[in-house]
Amino acid sequence: MIPEFLISFNTGHMSCEETDCLVIGGGIAGLSSALALKSYDTTLIYKDGLADTCTYNAQGGIASAMADWDKPLNHKEDTIATGCGIANPEAVDILVREGIDRIKELIDLGLVFDKENGSYHFTREGGHSCSRILHIQGDSIGRNIMSFLYGRAEAEKKIRILHSHFLIDLISSENKLTGALIYDGNRKKVFLVRAKIFILSAGGAGNIFQETTNPPGITGDGLSVAYRRGAELSDIEFYQFHPTTFYLAGAPRFLISESVRGEGGILKNIKGDRFMFDYHPSGELAPRDIVTRAIIDQMKLTGSNCVYLDLSGIKNDLKKRFPQIYSFCRNYGIDLKKSMVPVRPAAHYFMGGIKTDMWGKTNLDNLYACGEIACTGVHGANRLASNSLLEGLVYGVRAAEKAVENMNQKTEKRDVKYSFPQKADILIDREDLKRSIKSLMWRNVGIEREDEVLCVATKKFEEWKKYAFLKEFSDITGFEALNMLIIASLITEAASMRKESRGTHYRNDYPVQDDKSWKKHIIVSRKGFSIEE
Ligand SMILES: Cc1cc2nc3c(=O)[nH]c(=O)nc-3n(C[C@H](O)[C@H](O)[C@H](O)COP(=O)(O)OP(=O)(O)OC[C@H]3O[C@@H](n4cnc5c(N)ncnc54)[C@H](O)[C@@H]3O)c2cc1C
Repeated sequence: MIPEFLISFNTGHMSCEETDCLVIGGGIAGLSSALALKSYDTTLIYKDGLADTCTYNAQGGIASAMADWDKPLNHKEDTIATGCGIANPEAVDILVREGIDRIKELIDLGLVFDKENGSYHFTREGGHSCSRILHIQGDSIGRNIMSFLYGRAEAEKKIRILHSHFLIDLISSENKLTGALIYDGNRKKVFLVRAKIFILSAGGAGNIFQETTNPPGITGDGLSVAYRRGAELSDIEFYQFHPTTFYLAGAPRFLISESVRGEGGILKNIKGDRFMFDYHPSGELAPRDIVTRAIIDQMKLTGSNCVYLDLSGIKNDLKKRFPQIYSFCRNYGIDLKKSMVPVRPAAHYFMGGIKTDMWGKTNLDNLYACGEIACTGVHGANRLASNSLLEGLVYGVRAAEKAVENMNQKTEKRDVKYSFPQKADILIDREDLKRSIKSLMWRNVGIEREDEVLCVATKKFEEWKKYAFLKEFSDITGFEALNMLIIASLITEAASMRKESRGTHYRNDYPVQDDKSWKKHIIVSRKGFSIEE
């Protein structure tokens, strides 16, 4: 029922460009790949601008076992423990070891991390057994790392950066990718890009949920495109919900970084009682899934729509240590020195994604994936805080290094035609469809799941697909709505299949982790669902 492509096209009649490498998405993963490919003609596309990447919005920092008191093995153990039995130890080993090298390279190139008394300052976040998080200008690592990497990419002669360019679909010949259909938002035209290699670094899908920390353009497009082309997706039932996002009616779900709790922030319920030690011996620094569910439990118990973060015990100067959070809260009338911050959970990070090997290689020839869109298995069922920027750096470079092995091939020029199957002349309010997907996912496939509500969601999605997939859209909102519908319904099916609780996937009806039956991965492709050890 899912169409093969979102639009009708004939590549023989389209304007066409050629490049050696097409990198789709310019967050930390895409920029790292593009920079590693700088000696080849590389085109890097952004759906929007820099601020619309998750990378730009990152606050807390980047995890790396570089402190005197730390070791990569400790970082590996913490990552594997947080992954709840299904993190891939090989992927984690690569992450923690090569991550140190990648960060040192950035430091050598001039990226400046915060220091205290002349030494790097490492903060602590949930699930880490020691202070391990490097940060920049307090809570502003994202915008700093983006402008640093972007500036370097912009200066490279062979890297061409295109903004407001939207990937609609990829084109393949048998199992091999040959081109990409791109909508140029400036000229309002679709054109074809032929390339030898394709690196998909288009991020996660936070906006399939009503409450999310992700910028609005993160709608799972790349995941959906890859699925349509035949790529395998893995572990898609695992979506991480960040416990603490700002909650005031009408205000954005701005992230209140975990490092706030790392520096001594305390969670209190509406009655003013501290509660985290009732749920976990690490209190506020328990793994994210535990803090998230504890907050939901407290909201239910007290009939409140949020809990509160009390920062009064933090010794550091709040304005200096958390400048973004400080000024955001102040704009909404909250002075961190005097008042508590209202918070509640929101969808934050996708552990699942396009299944890749340790070099970003997917099951499709010429297609590599890296960053949040990819699933190497490094995070297992839950991501350790501040491991994802590191993942983008490490696996972005790895994907590029492997992809260049395909550079000797000729660009495939065979033309492809496609007619969208069943055109329907019906009205579909694309924004309403998006809103409906988001609220259904939040209510039925969110922090707590169970069979009955998952079945309701599956039925609803089937109903919506029946008419939505009959409509050929020609604008980004329409493409996004269909991409969201595809990825949301796949996540729902995977969540129904996994009849246990593990990491971020919590089932009220199967509350226990079942290692005997479920220490496994759910894989999905156009061929259907399968389960792998
Ligand atoms: C508020 C917030 C705070 C965070 N804080 C931290 C932190 O402190 N530490 C940490 O390690 N992680 C943090 N994370 C997670 C981390 O930022 C992300 O996992 C990581 O940056 C993802 O990088 P990426 O390059 O894979 O994707 P992104 O940075 O999200 O970039 C995705 C790119 O894909 C492009 N794209 C998407 N769809 C299309 C399309 N159809 N066509 C063309 N381009 C497309 C977008 O334009 C964008 O350029 C945070 C996330 C958020 C949202």
